[in-house]
Amino acid sequence: MAVPFVEDWDLVQTLGEGAYGEVQLAVNRHTEEAVAVKIVDMKRAADCPENIKKEICINKMLNHANIVKFYGHRREGTIQYLFLEYCSGGELFDRIEPDVGMPEQEAQKFFHQLMAGVEYLHSIGITHRDIKPENLLLDERDVLKISDFGLATVYRHQGRERLLNKMCGTLPYVAPELIKRREFHAEPVDIWSCGIVLTAMLAGELPWDKPNESCQEYCDWKERKLFLTPWKKIDSVPLALLNKILTDIPATRITIADIKKDRWYTKAFKKGVKRARASSGGTSESSSAFSKHIRSDMDLSPVSSAHSPYKSEERVRFSSSQPEPLTSLSSWDSNHSGIDKLVQGISFSQPACPDHMLLNSQLLGTPGSSQNPWQRLVKRLTRFFTKLDAIHSYNSLKDACEKMGYIWKRSCTNQVTVSTTDRRNNKLIFKVNLVEMDDKILVDFRLSKGDGLEFKRHFLKIKGKLQDIVSSQKTPVPTV
Ligand code: ATP
Repeated sequence: MAVPFVEDWDLVQTLGEGAYGEVQLAVNRHTEEAVAVKIVDMKRAADCPENIKKEICINKMLNHANIVKFYGHRREGTIQYLFLEYCSGGELFDRIEPDVGMPEQEAQKFFHQLMAGVEYLHSIGITHRDIKPENLLLDERDVLKISDFGLATVYRHQGRERLLNKMCGTLPYVAPELIKRREFHAEPVDIWSCGIVLTAMLAGELPWDKPNESCQEYCDWKERKLFLTPWKKIDSVPLALLNKILTDIPATRITIADIKKDRWYTKAFKKGVKRARASSGGTSESSSAFSKHIRSDMDLSPVSSAHSPYKSEERVRFSSSQPEPLTSLSSWDSNHSGIDKLVQGISFSQPACPDHMLLNSQLLGTPGSSQNPWQRLVKRLTRFFTKLDAIHSYNSLKDACEKMGYIWKRSCTNQVTVSTTDRRNNKLIFKVNLVEMDDKILVDFRLSKGDGLEFKRHFLKIKGKLQDIVSSQKTPVPTV
């Protein structure tokens, strides 16, 4: 069923895809320990080797409860493997119901954890630069973990802060000074993106495409037209905090120290009054505009390097032509010898398409397939069971997707790639796996490229169209 990776470890499922590779779930055959393996092919882009080295370098510096733990890395030819704490709770955007958000109490809990992680990063002089719900993962106990340090950088070293000048991030989450100014402080930019995440958690939508004067929604916010969406959906107490975070001038933007004293941040919610969790199982597409987000995966046209006194310094700090030794974190508990083996292990050759092997064998009728580790380990809300067999489920899904104008391409056995553009004309690509489980077909959606919240919206639209064949049976949740 699973694909052997190193001794005792199998790659059992693709967890996600990124610009330079993918993230796989590795499970120990004996102990069922689970580790996320980020697999990056350095041939993919000219700047990839430098970027991945920097990502590794930064990961090695990190040790905090709200940051994805880094176990180590290994290089084989042009492939870099990064071994990371597996977050079985999925991404934060999965908990945000389009146009609704989530209960305030839950948003506060996640915001506390986000602040703790960002405060720690800033305390050691690191800025993440791409905080958004897709990079905020949850572990099995719903503890938020900041992930993906691919754009992170050091902005303070030995007490000396440097200004940043590189425009990078995801447009709806970036602070206005990043677009307007040649140089800017790092900390207020991260704090701003946390404010956008909080808005998304409380209102289920992003407030604007980008924070500049060409964007009407942003101008409306600057004039504090609070009767407009998303602000009218947010209670005055958290709105007062957003007012202090989403402040145009970085010097007057609230600091983390003051956020921690804010009335909403410190508000004690009564136990037991939490609204039912916002469900992702809604079937009808919400009518209001859940479209105010474009994602730009690109570096946002970097400022000319002629104005960049720090660039070379940054490069020097992170570049190294020396082959890198096998690494494991000093903070890493050496009792986990299984994971050490994984980090250092002898590799088996890797198949080109692990999903193919996994799903193929499952659909060939593995008895008791509900016992497969990934099914107990992977918690994803963008999935449903159908009432039909595999062939009819496949045909119904194909039919619905084609009628909705999506481009449909079969990628592996029982896996299709669906492409479309979102409302802002940005590419949206996702993969759909059909997996047999307990004699039922599980249809499992995973984002490949595009905005996470927009993906969720499209998932709900497809699910709505397939209402007649969707089974009410709950999809699996992890038991470990
Ligand atoms: P991007 O192109 O968005 O920068 P990337 O190549 O840096 O992506 P990641 O963002 O690190 O890749 O991971 C891609 C996806 O894989 C994530 O959105 C998440 O769904 C999944 N993923 C990554 N790390 C983990 C983890 N530790 N546990 C569980 N899932 C993970």
